[in-house]
Amino acid sequence: MSSNNVLVKSLTNDQNFRVYALNATEVVKEAQKGHEMFGTSTAALGRTLVASLLLANSVLKGKETMTVRLNGQGPVGFMIVDADAHGNVKGYVQKPQVNLPLTEDGEVDVATAVGTDGFLEVLKNQGGEEPYTSSVPLASGKIGDDFTYYLAMSEQIPSVVGVSVEVNENNEVEVAGGFLIQAMPGAADEAITALEGKLKEIPTISDMLKADANPENILDHLFGKSNLKIVEELPIAFTCDCSKAKFAGDIARISKDDLEQIISEDHGAEVVCNFCGSKYNFSEDELVKILEEKEK
Ligand SMILES: [Zn+2]
Repeated sequence: MSSNNVLVKSLTNDQNFRVYALNATEVVKEAQKGHEMFGTSTAALGRTLVASLLLANSVLKGKETMTVRLNGQGPVGFMIVDADAHGNVKGYVQKPQVNLPLTEDGEVDVATAVGTDGFLEVLKNQGGEEPYTSSVPLASGKIGDDFTYYLAMSEQIPSVVGVSVEVNENNEVEVAGGFLIQAMPGAADEAITALEGKLKEIPTISDMLKADANPENILDHLFGKSNLKIVEELPIAFTCDCSKAKFAGDIARISKDDLEQIISEDHGAEVVCNFCGSKYNFSEDELVKILEEKEK
């Protein structure tokens, strides 16, 4: 299993914390390729993909899925990410080609790009007719803080979410990953205090993953290898379930008048999947066939 595409789940031996870490470099590269994104948009969406993978794989079960909507009214606009409990994620950002100057610390300025005038909204599809929806105001627009706040307020789980995406001057994703630490019910106060101290000492997520691509390295820095038990190593992927047949279904729902107009004026249609950027072409004949089916 390539360590650039894996989420590691672990538990501390003292049962105080559940700890997840992942290297999502390939996932964010795939997203960037599909959406032709510039650096700042890549970092903003990349962090949201990483945080959504961590959240979905910690709170969802079985076939449940999750949609994350995040909109802080900043230059990148809104972001929509779908994730499941099996390591799959897909998503897009409204403005894929945003590049802002770096912050004074030389970091990608995700906070400014995302903004804070809005909400992080999570819709969980748990098999019922209506998804379970919950939202919190954005805390900082840096994504990690925002997911931490969501977990505390909406899921009532004291957590820390750390996410990082590094993009170089050539607009290439160098490294992407993150961690999620959840305090278990009854976690010892001393353990929480010790963790808070540790979080201030450890290297950045990017530096940890650059030194060792295996996300177990992040767990080691946080708690020490001998204090953790690895529960699962889950492959992760930027995957989309779109298909030509699915878009044919969407086209069939266009009104008869509009569809006739598309056929007579455009003689065909190109449909682009928002989530992955895949393009599907429908010829005039194919559109006529969809229209005929519709009239039956
Ligand atoms: Zn797609």
